[in-house]
Amino acid sequence: MAWTIAVYPGTFDPVTNGHLDIIERGLHLFDQLIVAVVAQPSKNTFFSLEERMDMLRVALQGLDVRKTNSKLHLESFENLLIDYVRQKKAHVILRGLRALSDFEYEFELALTNRRMAADIETVFLAPSQEYVFLRATLVKEVARHGGNVSPFVPDYVNRCLMEKIQSLAVR
Ligand code: ADP
Repeated sequence: MAWTIAVYPGTFDPVTNGHLDIIERGLHLFDQLIVAVVAQPSKNTFFSLEERMDMLRVALQGLDVRKTNSKLHLESFENLLIDYVRQKKAHVILRGLRALSDFEYEFELALTNRRMAADIETVFLAPSQEYVFLRATLVKEVARHGGNVSPFVPDYVNRCLMEKIQSLAVR
């Protein structure tokens, strides 16, 4: 079988246990997995690119090294996803599918990308059941209102969220 490089793109604002679940599953399937952070998403992000990358770096270090050894890469990109995927010589775009809410958007995105690059396939993976309703936006909302987000994000992300919210409050 050919060497398979997959790109997992996202905003990761911030990375959650749901993202990590998809990354771990991707590591079982692909020879190389590039976690690619969208540098300038169309919507404003809560965390800067540097902060999003930093949280991911720490979170990825927490994964089982035997599995991740030299297979996992963390990058950011600014250009069109399809161009970035080509540049990396990858043929797979990895996406996570949560409950029904993701389906329409993800399907649209996958088919648009296929029209631009027929040789690149989008592969969808379902997360563990406990993460099916987990989204970064919700995590930020809960944290902003003083709720406990420790079941949803790695410890380091939890601390970064608290610090960010406190720093915004004192401004
Ligand atoms: P979000 O802000 O919606 O969490 P991202 O742009 O960071 O989105 O997501 C990148 C990819 O990860 C998308 O394919 C998204 O559907 C997927 N994803 C995000 N959270 C989860 C989760 N809890 N379970 C499965 N996939 C997820």
